[in-house]
Amino acid sequence: MKVTIIGCSGSFPGPDSPASCYLLEAEGFRLLLDFGSGSLGALQRHIDLYDVDAICLTHLHADHCLDICGYHVARTYGPAAPYPKVPVYAPKGAGRRLAAAYGMPEEPGLETAFDFVALTPGAFEIGPFTVTAGLVNHPVETYGFRAESGGRSVAYSGDTGESGELVRLADGTDLFLCEASFLERPELPQGLHLTGRQAAEHAAKAGAGRLVLTHLVPWHDRLRVLDEAASGGYDGPIELARSGAVYELA
Ligand SMILES: [Zn+2]
Ligand SMILES: [Zn+2]
Repeated sequence: MKVTIIGCSGSFPGPDSPASCYLLEAEGFRLLLDFGSGSLGALQRHIDLYDVDAICLTHLHADHCLDICGYHVARTYGPAAPYPKVPVYAPKGAGRRLAAAYGMPEEPGLETAFDFVALTPGAFEIGPFTVTAGLVNHPVETYGFRAESGGRSVAYSGDTGESGELVRLADGTDLFLCEASFLERPELPQGLHLTGRQAAEHAAKAGAGRLVLTHLVPWHDRLRVLDEAASGGYDGPIELARSGAVYELA
């Protein structure tokens, strides 16, 4: 399995990265986890515009899903249209919500380009991947994902506060993409986001092989996020996500 970070900027695009988007590849199949603002552009540095086979959305906050709208244009009106529909696994109501964001009537909405599938907790197959979705701890319906293929595994937190479900999803994974949106402060909001320390604590409990801190908010000093992760009791490698970084899990 190959994992490419397309976008890792938290809440909005930063100068060096789009918002959340991760490309997973196995056996020639290409799966996107989230499709946040700006990621459709950077994605084209790595694969052809039309080579996306499936998309999973953690939740419907703008920084995780809005480039579905631009991709609808590409697949509906591109030079060889119509292109095969891409399945989009997302919280219920995603088709209606994203059609509204685009400014499209509910019928046909974005269904000329996509088949929306409502997520529920549990495991399912997408191409060569076994994907497990679990509800995490964020103010709207939000899923963390675990994806396995060929004996390798990756977990992605989505947006979440502290979450036992996230530890279960990341259990024993080779690579753990965990959000670290907050810096430490005395009264952290609950059920929203994690700090670097909390991300490392989740990685330690899960026994993940490598921790990549992501959803890095542009107004924060990211080296401080990394410093804070060092206090989380995790003894594996920790690094900051970077748009364009590639992890070959073999
Ligand atoms: Zn977010
Ligand atoms: Zn969010």
